[in-house]
Amino acid sequence: MLHVLNPATEELVATVPPATREDVDAAVARATGAQRAWAAAAPADRARLLRRFAATVDQHLEELAQLEVTEAGHLIGNARWEAGNVRDLLEYAAGGVERLTGRQIPVAGGLDVTLLEPLGVVGVIAPWNFPMPIAAWGTAPALAAGNAVLLKPAETTPLTALRLAELALEAGLPEGLFQVLPGEGPVAGDALVEHPGVAKIVFTGSARVGKQVMAKCADRVKRVTLELGGKSPNIVFADADVEAAALATPMSFLDNSGQDCCARTRILVQRSVYERYLELLAPAVESVIVGDPSDEKTQMGPLISKAQLERVRSYVPLCEPAIRGAAPQGPGFWFPPTVLTAAAPDAPAAVEEVFGPVAVVLPFDDEADAVRLANATDYGLSGSIWTRDVGRALRVSQAVRAGNLSVNSHSAVRYWTPFGGYQQSGLGRELGPDALAAFTETKNVFISTDSTEA
Ligand code: NAD
Repeated sequence: MLHVLNPATEELVATVPPATREDVDAAVARATGAQRAWAAAAPADRARLLRRFAATVDQHLEELAQLEVTEAGHLIGNARWEAGNVRDLLEYAAGGVERLTGRQIPVAGGLDVTLLEPLGVVGVIAPWNFPMPIAAWGTAPALAAGNAVLLKPAETTPLTALRLAELALEAGLPEGLFQVLPGEGPVAGDALVEHPGVAKIVFTGSARVGKQVMAKCADRVKRVTLELGGKSPNIVFADADVEAAALATPMSFLDNSGQDCCARTRILVQRSVYERYLELLAPAVESVIVGDPSDEKTQMGPLISKAQLERVRSYVPLCEPAIRGAAPQGPGFWFPPTVLTAAAPDAPAAVEEVFGPVAVVLPFDDEADAVRLANATDYGLSGSIWTRDVGRALRVSQAVRAGNLSVNSHSAVRYWTPFGGYQQSGLGRELGPDALAAFTETKNVFISTDSTEA
């Protein structure tokens, strides 16, 4: 059984039977039949059904948000945004169904066209840190492009995914087209990866498991998208509005208790403003309100699990000089906001993804030094650059090897702009105007116009 705990109280919320390999086989068989009929349906009908799915999610937004608070410990405000994000993703993808056009290419003696065909059955393997949005990043465009989807949520957070599958049926999506398979990664997840009837895997999770998934997909040359970890820089130049940069820093690594692949956990500050920046940062971190996620005033909730709490603790020796915020005592998986101010650039907390409310702050001398430090990582997911110099903003944006950068802000992921990582942060891109195309095969057809009449 999967045991779903409330991370803020450690109370048992639900037990869910895990999908077996046989369940996955049966789901693939159902999805294969459903996908054929779905791909053959009129585009306008598919778009209409996806819009209805979006509207049904909207009608249940509060219920989904409360479920997210209970099973993942997310702040209620964030959870409402996340449920709304699922609705928006479905609407955006629905708008693409009738715009998924191929091309006509000039070739002598006939007509040459490219067709974009659905892949078939797509497996989406999601992590626990943003269970709803990340499930929808893969699911919405895959369905819109004419595929069936089998979603495997993380072991700790299956409830919103199961509810979304019910809402899809309620909205009128055909049986079997979108199925949820809660289960263990090495069982249900692996069965999806190995199944010859699954054409593509969309994996979001750790780099460790992502590499295994990619290696297994290679056996069948199975299509794969990987959204993996990050260790993203937040670069503050002396010519920036240093106060604005410092005040924006806490939520750039504390949102979702730091369990965010885009968390800006390496704060790089130009040496001439380093002390001033820390003076501004300390009260901002110390005053973050940590506690009950269902209270709208709370700014940071618990970690997802005991295992995650222990992992985060292991990165923060108690004697380390640090800026520390508060955290509740008693039950729940609580860890205080923490900024390590004297970590070596090669310390584990400065190099590895902690996936908790912990950042390191490191000084740099000049622009070249900032870029060198920013790129001193195997990851490359996101990052922020604070400067008033437009030329520098552009130069550094081009020099930092990461898929998603923001200047003078810590912008969140948008469903209408592309998202994904360089290096070991991932492979492929999700979201944005090309999201549907990633769930198609391109076929080229040449039709001779030569007369066959004698
Ligand atoms: P994880 O790799 O442990 O698990 C992710 C998913 O993979 C879960 O559903 C899990 O059950 C499944 N899984 C585990 N073993 C498997 C196997 N052998 N075969 C198939 N599936 C398997 O990651 P997690 O701890 O759930 O999530 C945290 C990680 O996700 C962090 O590293 C974070 O950075 C990353 N993440 C990345 C993005 C992004 O878009 N780049 C977004 C969110 C999270």
